[in-house]
Amino acid sequence: MFQCETYDICGTLNQKQMDKILNYINGELQEPKKDQWLDNYNPAQGKVYALIPDSDADDVELALLAAETAFDTWRLTSLEDRFKVLNRIAELIDLNNEQLALAESIDQGKPVWLAKNEITRAGQNFRFFATAAMQFASESHNMEGHAINYTLRQAIGVVGCISPWNLPLYLFTWKIAPALAAGNCVIAKPSEITPMTAFLLAKICQEAGLPKGVLNIVHGLGPKVGNAMVSHPRIKAISFTGGTSTGKHIASIAAPMFKKLSLELGGKNPNIVFADCDFEKALKTTVQSSFLNQGEICLCGSRILIERPIYEKFKAALITEVSLMKVGNPLDKDTKVGAIVSKMHFDKVLSYIELAKEEGGNILLGGNALQMQGDLENGWYIAPTIIENLAFDCRTNTEEIFGPVVTITPFDTDEEALKMANCTEYGLASSIWTNDLTRAHRVAASIQSGIVWINCWLLRDLRTPFGGVKQSGVGREGGWEAMKFFTEAKNVCIKL
Ligand code: NDP
Repeated sequence: MFQCETYDICGTLNQKQMDKILNYINGELQEPKKDQWLDNYNPAQGKVYALIPDSDADDVELALLAAETAFDTWRLTSLEDRFKVLNRIAELIDLNNEQLALAESIDQGKPVWLAKNEITRAGQNFRFFATAAMQFASESHNMEGHAINYTLRQAIGVVGCISPWNLPLYLFTWKIAPALAAGNCVIAKPSEITPMTAFLLAKICQEAGLPKGVLNIVHGLGPKVGNAMVSHPRIKAISFTGGTSTGKHIASIAAPMFKKLSLELGGKNPNIVFADCDFEKALKTTVQSSFLNQGEICLCGSRILIERPIYEKFKAALITEVSLMKVGNPLDKDTKVGAIVSKMHFDKVLSYIELAKEEGGNILLGGNALQMQGDLENGWYIAPTIIENLAFDCRTNTEEIFGPVVTITPFDTDEEALKMANCTEYGLASSIWTNDLTRAHRVAASIQSGIVWINCWLLRDLRTPFGGVKQSGVGREGGWEAMKFFTEAKNVCIKL
């Protein structure tokens, strides 16, 4: 459908021309006003392969003018027409799955087979919310004999969507799709670390016939573009996914302006394995929940708590399974763990492995950077790492590492497991492995997290509320929660 000439099919750099990613403002692909650019890296090779706009408040202002103008029409566009164009975007994402997945893999470092799944899910986001636009309903409250109330759910206006680098197109569309479906116009900023598929999405939106100005994508740095969006009085709501400290900063600016805020933040998720679980299923899924996407998923279970009777057996089996995972070129079909997204993040993850050693941790597997050969020699790779012998409440066990690093800890009772699980400031997701239904319900009810998986992980129904408690966030995404966030409720009371 579209041409992206940055790389050939092997993902090697096309040296003839450094591709420029462009902003998408008022339906046009545009250079940043000040003509300033940032390097965009291929983490598998540790090399710059494209340039991205180093936009600023002036570009945000342009996007805002376009979005405000578009809103006058978009909010009145029939639900069916909104559905058609959003559904067309979904179709085009599906049609371009291979190319988008390749771009995502090169930009982020994830295995290309995994990127394909995520691009499929990005298409599903648009399809799901295109349909939601047609089915969203509001309440009516009858005061028998006196009055009837009905609730209007009206689009907010121009809203801002800010997303992180770990699941770039998936998380970007998870915000944009409901915002548009609810009738808003959007200014969106992907992470400057992984901008490529957002740029390709702009081309898809052009091809799908999305009216100009309805979606505007401004690339650049968080403290410049993101900050300009968060602090702009005419951007009425901010939906943010990213780190907890960035979320705190955003809240400190947006809250006094009384903006609507949805914050999806970090996690330090417990994965509790009881002795009565289905051992093989728990093991196989734990390998995934620990190391999928190099452990760079906010939902990864980075603290594995294992009931003592099966501790040694589970530990041995986990080490065996994980040692079989191939780390390497994200474009190879059999690669299970790709490259770490950036040099800065690579250094951060390695520093946590050092911290774990200082805290008395015993490295059972990995614990080091990996040096690749050839084209990949400057890429950023870390061996999947398993650590034991740490206090459950030490820094390694309570701070988010967000890489291919997990700890394992034995426990003796349900109460002890819960105490360990709940000991961090985070509360995003958790997994429980047991065949005792009563225990599963009891632990699920007592665990401090917004999402609990029992005998599974990452099983997602887009209708369910998604989000965290404590410092993992405020508000929920998904299904009607997202449609409600992106609309204002207005009650109309009619006296009978
Ligand atoms: P960051 O918080 O660093 O960045 C997230 C986004 O915010 C990026 O687009 C970033 O831009 C932007 N940003 C940075 N500073 C500001 C600012 N001052 N004002 C406005 N925007 C800003 O997170 P990461 O990209 O490092 O993502 C990893 C984090 O995201 C992890 O903590 C992870 O747990 C969390 N996450 C949470 C999820 C959830 O659903 N709860 C899902 C996925 C990830 P730039 O890239 O230019 O810095």
